[in-house]
Amino acid sequence: MHEVAQALLAWYEQTKRSLPWRETKDPYRIWVSEIMLQQTRVETVIPYYQRFMQRFPDLAALSVASQDEVVKYWEGLGYYSRVRRLHDAVKEVEAEYGGVVPNDQETFRSLPGVGEYTAGAVMSIAYDVDAIAVDGNVLRVFSRLFAVNKEITSQAAKKQIAAHVQDVLPSGQAGAFNQAIMDLGSAVCVRAKPRCNSCPLTAFCHAYAQDSAERFPVKKPKKMIPTHVFYVYLLQNENKIAVRQRPQEGLLAGLWELPYTSVPNKVENDDFFTDSDQAKATLEAVFPHLNVHAIDYSGQFDHVFSHLKWQMHLFRGHVSETSKSESLQFVSPQERNQLTFGTIFTKMMKRYL
Ligand code: SF4
Repeated sequence: MHEVAQALLAWYEQTKRSLPWRETKDPYRIWVSEIMLQQTRVETVIPYYQRFMQRFPDLAALSVASQDEVVKYWEGLGYYSRVRRLHDAVKEVEAEYGGVVPNDQETFRSLPGVGEYTAGAVMSIAYDVDAIAVDGNVLRVFSRLFAVNKEITSQAAKKQIAAHVQDVLPSGQAGAFNQAIMDLGSAVCVRAKPRCNSCPLTAFCHAYAQDSAERFPVKKPKKMIPTHVFYVYLLQNENKIAVRQRPQEGLLAGLWELPYTSVPNKVENDDFFTDSDQAKATLEAVFPHLNVHAIDYSGQFDHVFSHLKWQMHLFRGHVSETSKSESLQFVSPQERNQLTFGTIFTKMMKRYL
């Protein structure tokens, strides 16, 4: 037997949780538990499982029940397509296989709602078939155990890990092994901070040897988001300030904002000006109807959207208008309170008005 399996089974023997579906070899009951456990925590499943088994103690009882009643017994567990498919599959077993859950992985896998993992788990636990059962927990544990350097959702990583599990799987004890890995994944080799100090596999764990357990599983790198750099102007004309409305479509559609000009082709760096003369020249070029009397740099404000970042450099100044413009309005404090601004502009106004 592979030394990893040996250590794991010894640990499992001492620590295994007593769960209602572990007190049986009945494939029907194990199957129901596996379907309930998909996307649902063990503690949540236990009372549902017990009630379900009281009402539908065997495959025959479930197969003759109405779908409405079956769904009623699932109410609160969510993901109702799970129970509808289970019900269809159970009826198929009753009709096609004389009420006996097939003990052949391929045949069982062909039933509604039975995926690769469920097939492996039920076959190994109920019938001692030498089948692997790889779910998210197993992927995580094995990615650490063998320091798998491939991105965990990739086919290459899944293939490599399945091969490792197959390699370690102890013949004749696949059921205990698969459950042991599940327990290890949920109690010891947990997602956020693996508890290596209480792990039976430290001697064989490549990630532990490299002191890098938290580096695995390898995740997709976060996408870099582009940074757009702007100069924003908080311009006062007596007690009014200059504002404008954004287009009705696109980012912050229809909201109000302080006027701004973009810094072309700049990424996040120090390459922006803070000089008053440059700000005055830029502003008068873009808004020729404004007379800029005084303007000063006030600092940087950042805002992160899901797909891009705004880096905004704020100038505050006093202006007057030589003519009216449609693109810019001057509003009083009362008028301003009636308008909805983008958060970053509200932040600027709160700080300085
Ligand atoms: Fe997971 Fe740590 Fe055990 Fe390795 S030693 S399997 S990282 S808990």
